[in-house]
Amino acid sequence: MTYTSTRGGDAGISFSEAVIQGLASDGGLFVPEDEVRFTPEEIKVMCGMDYKGIAARVISRFADDFDDAEIEKCVMDAYRKEKFPEGPCGFTTLDKDLSILELWHGPTCAFKDMALQIMPLFMRKAVEKRGESKEITILTATSGDTGKAALEGFKDVPGIKIMVFYPSEGVSETQKLQMVTQAGSNVNVVAIRGNFDNAQTGVKKIFSDKAFAKKLLGDGKMLSSANSINWGRLLPQIVYYFHSYAKLVTAGTVRFGDEIDFCVPTGNFGDILACYYAKKAGLPVGRIICACNENNVVSDFLATGVYDKNREFVTTTSPAMDILVSSNLERLIYDALGRNSEAVSGLMKKLSKDGKYEIARGALEKIQKDFASGSSDQKEASDTIAEIFKKYNYLIDPHTAVGVSVFEKVSDKARHTVCVSTASPFKFNKCVAESLFGNEIPEGMGEDAISALLSGRTGVPVPVPLRGLFERKVRFKEIVDPDMMPKKAEDFIYDR
Ligand SMILES: *Cc1c(COP(=O)(O)O)cnc(C)c1O
Repeated sequence: MTYTSTRGGDAGISFSEAVIQGLASDGGLFVPEDEVRFTPEEIKVMCGMDYKGIAARVISRFADDFDDAEIEKCVMDAYRKEKFPEGPCGFTTLDKDLSILELWHGPTCAFKDMALQIMPLFMRKAVEKRGESKEITILTATSGDTGKAALEGFKDVPGIKIMVFYPSEGVSETQKLQMVTQAGSNVNVVAIRGNFDNAQTGVKKIFSDKAFAKKLLGDGKMLSSANSINWGRLLPQIVYYFHSYAKLVTAGTVRFGDEIDFCVPTGNFGDILACYYAKKAGLPVGRIICACNENNVVSDFLATGVYDKNREFVTTTSPAMDILVSSNLERLIYDALGRNSEAVSGLMKKLSKDGKYEIARGALEKIQKDFASGSSDQKEASDTIAEIFKKYNYLIDPHTAVGVSVFEKVSDKARHTVCVSTASPFKFNKCVAESLFGNEIPEGMGEDAISALLSGRTGVPVPVPLRGLFERKVRFKEIVDPDMMPKKAEDFIYDR
């Protein structure tokens, strides 16, 4: 199995190379060159396995330059009990047509742990296999969840360092505390005066500085990214779609061979794209429902074939889905256009020039065979949090609520649907508490007090990783202007 760029520049790339490189040299994304397909018999065997067993099976087919023992070791280390005390993910069937796949039982309480706990191990192994002796520094800009999950994943990984930039006023109190109290000897966290876009632009500038890259190379160092466009992040996400199916078959909710639907709260289109790859690999999936918040550029695209980012950016209560350019969509379009890399390059050029492109009718119809889509606003998400708690005594966060709300709007309910739950409700405690208790929350109440109140009133315990956050020692206090980012990165890379 080798990988190729969606824009045609690189081909015959191994899994290891794809993970280390992240982005293809022509700016495209790596996609599998060969088709991966599991037979019904193979899927049936997986239905009798636990999460780690399924993970090893799925990953080995896409990462064939790793041997079985190497994959097994990555899987066992990534999803071990200390990291996921309750198991890698939770699964709750609420109704005869609805289950929730909880992807937030990891160390940072967000779905990004599912990939970012194992991706650093892939990278470490890939470096070793390829005899790569350069010291790697991961640079990331974050709007909240990615930064913390990447820090946790890369902390104390030998030969790799990680630095995270976040907007000083752009993340929640809980998210900020999660990052500035981060443990590990190879980590650094710096706040930027400005918004997420300033932080992101600053990181991109460092990556595209050719002179700096040359200097690093001369000193035996290199930069890499933990961004969700890295195939090493997408691959581990395919696993939990198979796991969901296994859960439903084992419980007798569906018969083996019956199709199920998935509904996925979407931002950068990584989580949902993994579902598409699971379906392509033979998992019996009917419709994949793409749920967006007010930033509904992707759900509009799936409905009309027109991608148009020339619209207002809305800051919502589901910030991890606030996005205008969903990078991973490029991989879906590549398939829809019959793997025509020239056509993909053309569209992506249009996107960066005009902020807009349109795909042909036939390509759209192909996409719509697999995907349905819809969007819900903050009021609908908030109402859904209250409704689901009232009806099932079950707590969901605002991102998951967008998913459930869209499911209720667009599903034909012909098949059992699994809604993907992407964050612990306690990570977004203020929005959840306000949805449930409205104006009973006093103005200016701290997030630790809100968590205590939410837990006390609902009987749902605060997840262990979020407990005592406000008592932990703050390690990273620095706030800098965006133009200081290159200097800060260089100081960290050179241990100054
Ligand atoms: C990152 C994130 C999403 C969006 O996932 P994509 O793969 O970017 O589509 C949704 N919810 C939460 C809580 C997230 O952290």
